[in-house]
Amino acid sequence: MDWMPELIPNWINGEQFPAASGKEFDNLNPATGERICGVASSETPDVSRAVEAAKEAQPEWAALTPVARGDLLREVALKIRERSEHFARIVSLETGKSFCDALGETDAAVEMGMFVAGEGRRSYGRTTTSAVPNRAAMVVRQPLGVAGLIIAANTPIANVAWKVFPALLCGNAVVLKGSEDTPVTAWAVGEVFHEAGIPPGVLNIVQGLGPEAGQPLVENHDVDIVSFTGSAGVGRLIQRIAGERLAKVCMELGGKNPLVVCDDADLDVAADTTILSAFSNAGQRCASGSRIIVFNAIYDKFRDMLIDRTGKLKMGPSDTDDFGPVINAKQLASMVEAVEGARESGATILTGGKRLTDDEHKDGFYMAPTIIEDARPSDAISRDELFGPITCLYRVKGFTEAVELVNDSPFGLTAAIHTKNMHRAMTFMNEVKTGVISINGATYGSEPHMPFGGLGQSGTGWREAGTEALDVYSDWKTVYIVHDPTDV
Ligand code: NAD
Repeated sequence: MDWMPELIPNWINGEQFPAASGKEFDNLNPATGERICGVASSETPDVSRAVEAAKEAQPEWAALTPVARGDLLREVALKIRERSEHFARIVSLETGKSFCDALGETDAAVEMGMFVAGEGRRSYGRTTTSAVPNRAAMVVRQPLGVAGLIIAANTPIANVAWKVFPALLCGNAVVLKGSEDTPVTAWAVGEVFHEAGIPPGVLNIVQGLGPEAGQPLVENHDVDIVSFTGSAGVGRLIQRIAGERLAKVCMELGGKNPLVVCDDADLDVAADTTILSAFSNAGQRCASGSRIIVFNAIYDKFRDMLIDRTGKLKMGPSDTDDFGPVINAKQLASMVEAVEGARESGATILTGGKRLTDDEHKDGFYMAPTIIEDARPSDAISRDELFGPITCLYRVKGFTEAVELVNDSPFGLTAAIHTKNMHRAMTFMNEVKTGVISINGATYGSEPHMPFGGLGQSGTGWREAGTEALDVYSDWKTVYIVHDPTDV
């Protein structure tokens, strides 16, 4: 592809650089296992240089009005929209997902850009009364400084958009560490920001591996906020390191998301929704449905419906396939191992459980859609996030037991219930300990104007997207104005 460099470089201060060490690694197409390109394998010197550039550029960027920053970000979103097919091709190539899915994700990134750009005109603070005569009291937003952003690969262009747009709108300069599995997407987004006239140094993009390029960003004392999307394990490490210097940290971590099917549910809708929640995007969603909790009265029938639907799924990278490969060979191996562990602990693998090794799939990283039953809620397969097309079924007597099982998890990201009973739905809404719930819908499906995030090991209380994202990337300043100092 003539538009793509042989080596994906860093963007630092408006220019493109390989890693200072000259090191690189291969970026593979997970649908075929073939090499796409090389990638700069950055380390501390590259990250330090990017942070310095951001620190230098930030005051001038923050001096623009939020409206002017929003205008520039709108330009970026429009340019991505103009080239949405180009971006979708990149996303599809790097993730193995279909062009159609990749296009949908690109549109979601554009929507996020447009939403955030509009917030430039709504950067509301608060005015209130004062107990002191002739004194006005107000609260205004202020930027934090340099934002260090670290992201996962599952929806690469949307992941960039969810962090970069709000961080920049709030007047911060950014150093983004793209995912090592989707470097071309991050690099190509950088190109658009550059073309749209975002000043040099305001958005820097460092490519590389987590411990070598991500960790130095977390350790850097000039990074004022670390915003991380990824696994709970890495999140814990980042929180510890950034906590040493009491830096602000936003964590968007994993999920083990339950979907409850009650005896009064529309079973066809519930089955279709379960299949999408569990398997779309090859289960690589923080909000994927990996615990399907089914009332005893309909359990056997519903299980058969799921097995039947799963048998008809097609795996591959084209628009006629239902889902593609998982992102890399290591993730695939850990999924196969987890399923094997479940089998050894006494669970039954109803379907799938293996890598696809037929001629069409053997070179890619394909996991068969997998349904498991009879796992105990305390088993590893019920508690650990697998981030693949694997889901477990649980049989419950009724609503109370279902809610108990929903809440019996280290994670608390999303939950869904299928029922026609309004009281059940409302009780579910009140009693379930997650950041997002869905009634008669899928476990996933967030919108740019709505907050997203979770409890427990799913996050540390921040919400991304929505206007709540502005709270992540700005700080509140309380202002008192004594307008007649001679009369107080
Ligand atoms: P991961 O935690 O392995 O990696 C995520 C990012 O962290 C990558 O860019 C990686 O290079 C970097 N990283 C790894 N080690 C690091 C270190 N020591 N210091 C700094 N950075 C480091 O996760 P993954 O497998 O790429 O992504 C899947 C995870 O992301 C799942 O847990 C999924 O649920 C989560 N996720 C969460 C959300 C959300 O909004 N809550 C959205 C998407 C994905």
